[in-house]
Amino acid sequence: MKIINPATEDVLTDVELADAAEVDRAVERARKAQAAWRDVAPGQRARLLRAFADLVDAHGEELAMLEVANAGHPIGNARWEAGAVRDVLHFYAGAPERNHGLQIPVPGGVDVTFQEPLGVVGVIVPWNFPMLIMSWGVAPALAAGNAVIVKPAEWTPLTALRLAELALAAGLPEGVLQVLPGAGEVAGARLVEHPDVAKIVFTGSTEVGKQIAAKAGAQVKRITLELGGKSANIIFADSDLEKAAKAAPYAVFDNSGQDCCARSRILVQAGAYDEFLERLSAAVRDIRVGDPLDPDTDMGPLVSAEHLARVRGFVDDAPYLQGDCPQGKGYWFPPTVLTSAVTDRAFTEEIFGPVVSVVPFADEAEAVRIANDTPYGLSGSIWTRDVGRALRVARAVEAGALSVNSNSSVRYWTPFGGFKQSGLGRELGPDALAAFTETKNVFISSE
Ligand code: NAD
Repeated sequence: MKIINPATEDVLTDVELADAAEVDRAVERARKAQAAWRDVAPGQRARLLRAFADLVDAHGEELAMLEVANAGHPIGNARWEAGAVRDVLHFYAGAPERNHGLQIPVPGGVDVTFQEPLGVVGVIVPWNFPMLIMSWGVAPALAAGNAVIVKPAEWTPLTALRLAELALAAGLPEGVLQVLPGAGEVAGARLVEHPDVAKIVFTGSTEVGKQIAAKAGAQVKRITLELGGKSANIIFADSDLEKAAKAAPYAVFDNSGQDCCARSRILVQAGAYDEFLERLSAAVRDIRVGDPLDPDTDMGPLVSAEHLARVRGFVDDAPYLQGDCPQGKGYWFPPTVLTSAVTDRAFTEEIFGPVVSVVPFADEAEAVRIANDTPYGLSGSIWTRDVGRALRVARAVEAGALSVNSNSSVRYWTPFGGFKQSGLGRELGPDALAAFTETKNVFISSE
């Protein structure tokens, strides 16, 4: 497959796509490698993961430049992402040595639990944060003693392939981490169906996530799903409107809106609506869209021509406000503000582009009702100076990752995942290891 730079439409390279037979061979290699990897002493597994993290650090600029070229991320963002991959690897490098079980008092003997690795884990990755999302699955899975096969998104395999080379160079045994570029319906589907793949970690659309859940269910295969979102940014009239309005574009237009946590519905309390919209408009006009290699760029292109066409389909001829973007080659779309009705398609469906809808609400109850009126439940923000209200609304909004007076969602120390159709299970945080292990209970008789 030809891999394209979305900012220039240049062909970067050709990548060979794996077919189902190649997936089967990879699973066989992974099975053999895992049998040895699970017995590597925890301290040694930790050292190898740290060596991998150190190589990611040493090659951070190279990885960032690859993500700029392949996914169109602004260079500042891409550098942060390469650093985050390193940090996630370091965080879980500490885990093998703390993967404790329990000793439970029972009559007639002793009862102990072990956290056993699952075996071979398939990690299926989307194109929006190729290396970052890969690391969320790979780091805890390897730490727990599993072998991993990564299936990157068709359009963006380059950082995943480079990370696999770095893992080998760091000394990870062959076959423990494999990257197989391939079509979702071919290589991805085979990973899901393969009886020797114990678990699938899937990040992507809710539509494909449902198909994977159904297929995995037939084998009682373990799954973690991170799916779509339509998150709310709730602005109360008592909030710091200047701060909220400055943060709102970042909350939705970051990564050109190709972010599962994008707060693409802005809910503003009626008394503050006009002032907020004015301040938001000024902030949106300040967004610089252009060359991802320019350190002053805030927003790059969309990932592909197909995705650009899809995003365009949500915006009619008369949006409330549209910023500027380059014309000519590249998959450009300007930051766009709509003043929608809550029934509009743009307000209810995930666009996954730089388009935000703003609606007014009367009071706390209405804000919560609108925020929850969606099949999704991934993230969201609440802006208010009233601590009690912040807490009440945070408890009432049906979403997995909320922030108060902030637009950020993901911190690798804390659990991340969705309510409702935004996902199943949690990634990151202290408990992610549990998602890659099976608890085994052993009773030893003293009689
Ligand atoms: P997608 O579902 O089209 O593809 C995701 C991955 O699944 C790709 O690697 C693809 O090749 C593979 N795939 C496709 N069909 C498959 C099948 N039948 N069997 C197995 N694998 C298959 O999603 P996308 O367009 O790449 O990503 C965008 C979506 O991802 C958005 O909906 C976004 O919200 C979601 N997302 C969610 C999170 C999260 O953490 N919740 C993070 C990023 C993106």
